[in-house]
Amino acid sequence: MTPELIARLPAVLFEIGKLVASDLDPHILLSRISELICKLIGAQACSVMLLDASRERLLAKAAYGLHTERVHTLSFAVGEGVAGWVALHGEAALIADVAEDPRFVPLTDHRTPIASMICVPLTARGQRVGVVTTTSEQPGAFTTQHLELVRFLATTIALDIENVRLHRVAVTDPLTGAYNREFLTQRLPGELEAAVANDRPLSVALIDIDEFKRINDAHGHLVGDHVLAEIARRLRTAIRGGDLLVRYGGEEFLAVLPRADAGRAWEVGERMRQRVSEAPIEVVGGPRVVMTLSVGVAQLRTSPALETAHQLTDRADSALYSAKRHGRNRVEVAP
Ligand code: GH3
Ligand code: MG
Ligand code: MG
Repeated sequence: MTPELIARLPAVLFEIGKLVASDLDPHILLSRISELICKLIGAQACSVMLLDASRERLLAKAAYGLHTERVHTLSFAVGEGVAGWVALHGEAALIADVAEDPRFVPLTDHRTPIASMICVPLTARGQRVGVVTTTSEQPGAFTTQHLELVRFLATTIALDIENVRLHRVAVTDPLTGAYNREFLTQRLPGELEAAVANDRPLSVALIDIDEFKRINDAHGHLVGDHVLAEIARRLRTAIRGGDLLVRYGGEEFLAVLPRADAGRAWEVGERMRQRVSEAPIEVVGGPRVVMTLSVGVAQLRTSPALETAHQLTDRADSALYSAKRHGRNRVEVAP
């Protein structure tokens, strides 16, 4: 290892320690660690991919230096591509020129040029949990010393990453990928407090799928599940970074919208309604169905007294009920 690299290492380890100890959003934590790794070894991009629950696919959880829109779509089957090879074999890969390496699979929507790369396995509690990849657009950008450094950092952060993953699993609904109700209970009071402390509006949108029972009755529960997962995916495209999407009940979702007043929340609700109804949902080997939503939104009341999380969601529920009564496929705002 060059003396220059060794000299930079303690500062990086100190930074990583600080990040892990802070209460950052897991995604931001991993993105910041990716950034530190990039800067340390002079890579252009770094990503952290974790195995999904079935342990058959690697899904990107965070990245630095990639086109940000791509991060969540970055995914490899175990065995596929360099990352998939590393996850399968548990061995690191150091590639001077990806054009010469048969394991490399270029991505179709590829916007980050890659010539050389390092990919190391992430192992926690004796289990393979994912991979860390760094890339450069220069061929031969990395040496075995860079590889050892990335491997060392991966070992350092693996347990933290695994804890982040376990936390994520604990607060996520597996079918829809939305947060679960347990998480909402933990998180909503804090969101309200923050809104009040910063003198900012906050709204919630309660979303209920219209006549969802008909899908189950006509096509069966599995098709219903598929439709539900696709609707959740579309709902996510309608919210922004700091917003939370929660599976509130069977076919009901709650979006928590910090910084949104009632007008903005109504716009979000409208966008959700459009995204869901504008194109049919296709079930592979099954039906194409057009779905609609009803949405009730409510802005947090701070006067005459600050309302509770429960009162806020209750008012959104009344607005939702009113949207249903007025014919469904509409957004209503609680008075
Ligand atoms: P509306 O809301 O427009 O009044 O009609 P609806 O048919 O959606 O209302 P209802 O609340 O009567 O039915 C909701 C249905 O959602 C009933 C239940 O079987 C179904 N459901 C709830 N959770 C799931 C799930 O996880 N998977 C599937 N497939 N169906 C679910
Ligand atoms: Mg319902
Ligand atoms: Mg419904």
